[in-house]
Amino acid sequence: MKKIFQYILIIILFSFWGIVLTNPESFRGALDFLKKPCSKPIKYSLGEIDPKFNLSQEEMLSITEKAEEVWEKPTGKNLFEYDPQADFKINIVFDERQERTNASKKLESQLGKLESDRENVIKEYDQLSKTYQKRLDDYNKSVSQYEERLEKYLAKVNYWNSRGGAPEDEYEDLKKEKKELDKMRNSLEAERKTINSLVGKTNTLADKENKIVENYNSNLSTYKNKYGEASQFDKGVYDGEKINIFQFNEVEDLRLTIVHELGHALGIEHLGDSTSIMYYLMGDQDMENPQLSEEDIKAVKTTCRIK
Ligand SMILES: [Zn+2]
Repeated sequence: MKKIFQYILIIILFSFWGIVLTNPESFRGALDFLKKPCSKPIKYSLGEIDPKFNLSQEEMLSITEKAEEVWEKPTGKNLFEYDPQADFKINIVFDERQERTNASKKLESQLGKLESDRENVIKEYDQLSKTYQKRLDDYNKSVSQYEERLEKYLAKVNYWNSRGGAPEDEYEDLKKEKKELDKMRNSLEAERKTINSLVGKTNTLADKENKIVENYNSNLSTYKNKYGEASQFDKGVYDGEKINIFQFNEVEDLRLTIVHELGHALGIEHLGDSTSIMYYLMGDQDMENPQLSEEDIKAVKTTCRIK
């Protein structure tokens, strides 16, 4: 039994030196393997950044620099380093995921516009209602004034009729009053028509508002159906050779995605705490100021064999 073990050891040793002799590069590689993990930074470069993302190389670098820090500060290690020559690339690739995001942004701005349209219509409606109310009150007052005057006029006419006719000056006064009353009635009639048209206008505005609300609600339900679910870290992928990012809304979630994928590049798998960088869903982490959770720190320390 012992003999066999020795043989195996000798074979392993021989084959090890055999590799070293034929290929000195792999000797260095073999020694690297024996070194502590994380003793050398993972070097990365920036690959393709699809112009549809509207993101410059400089902006991208400042984002990756911040993403590096999230891992490097708590561990006190230089874990990642930008090197334009590095084979390990971070790419920003445009596909249907970002197309969806752009569509959702468009829908969002449509919703915003409908909201402000609605506010404007409501304002207009309120103003019109006030005008309507004021004019209606004035109209009603004028109508009762008119009726009062008309009553007096008719009483006078009746009075003089019962006496077989009015004297000349009274008759002239009554004629004048009749003219005035006719004028009043005409202008009241015109005002009544105007007020009625105001009612029509307010109704039109109310209809308009209802339509906007309907439109808004249908857009909102489309939005919720299409884009409402929690966002998984399928925005990016680390495949052992590169990081590809497919989708982001703002700089903040792009950065968080890169931090997450860099974690995979270190060799860390998904973790269970929803606030962890390495949780499989994005949402509970601090977007503005991403930080490792206790669980993340424990994982990176285990991976890098830091005590
Ligand atoms: Zn992941």
